[in-house]
Amino acid sequence: MTETPPRATGEVALVGGGPGAPELLTLAAVTALREADVVLYDRLAPPVLAEFAPQAEHVDVGKRPGHHQLSQSGIEALLITQAQAGRKVVRLKGGDPFVFGRGGEEARACRDAGVTVRVIPGVTSAIAVPAAVGIPLTHREVSRMFTVVSGHAPLTAAELDHLAGLARTGGTLVILMGVLHLAQICQGLAAAGLPPGTPVAIIEQGYSPHQRLLTTTVASIAVTAAEHAVRSPAVIVIGEVVRLADQDPAAAADLHRAADLS
Ligand code: SAH
Repeated sequence: MTETPPRATGEVALVGGGPGAPELLTLAAVTALREADVVLYDRLAPPVLAEFAPQAEHVDVGKRPGHHQLSQSGIEALLITQAQAGRKVVRLKGGDPFVFGRGGEEARACRDAGVTVRVIPGVTSAIAVPAAVGIPLTHREVSRMFTVVSGHAPLTAAELDHLAGLARTGGTLVILMGVLHLAQICQGLAAAGLPPGTPVAIIEQGYSPHQRLLTTTVASIAVTAAEHAVRSPAVIVIGEVVRLADQDPAAAADLHRAADLS
């Protein structure tokens, strides 16, 4: 009787790469990268492949101008065919794979195709990029909730009303993918009753040498964003916690005093 050697079984790991700094990868992410045969990455994935996955094939599935861009279904098909060929596939994403990263769709596509898939959570930019400039999303006596919203499409009047209500009651709003519709979002929040003086922070390109923090108010956002030519990727924070940002020690001290923390 001849024994057939066991076929290598491939698998997919959906890996959160964190907000950009290599030190903010998890140990599990590094292990998966070191064991990978192929890594599919895109624009927001941190630049860590040369260091942690030099052995693997690297496939850019992102949206850089001039590069071939794979559709979402094309990415899912590639994950599946690579795993079915017996390879260890890493899908490296920016931040956390399940925060606006289409990770849920990719996991489901793999499972539907009978491919083993696991998820390695990452440090999300929604929390880490504000932290890079000293903004805590919650702070005792200032904010006890935060809401993360995708701004990639204009928000509806009902959504704006709901969010303005949350912010009025001390909730912090965090907007990802919001640069394009920032003015519409802020006008809508003001129309829904958010005080126009509510502080806003725009943090561009967190954890890169080009990181930039702009602080302004809901009323002045459109002017500030245009004056400083704000560009994606940026995390937008709306709420009183913005006063705690590093760049404004006086305001931060006031708020600490108000919250009886100093
Ligand atoms: N899964 C990711 C988010 C994907 S949506 C995560 O958990 O972080 C993409 C949006 O994330 C961008 O439009 C931007 O709003 C935000 N983003 C991701 N990385 C960023 C960074 N380094 N600096 C600023 N914004 C970032």
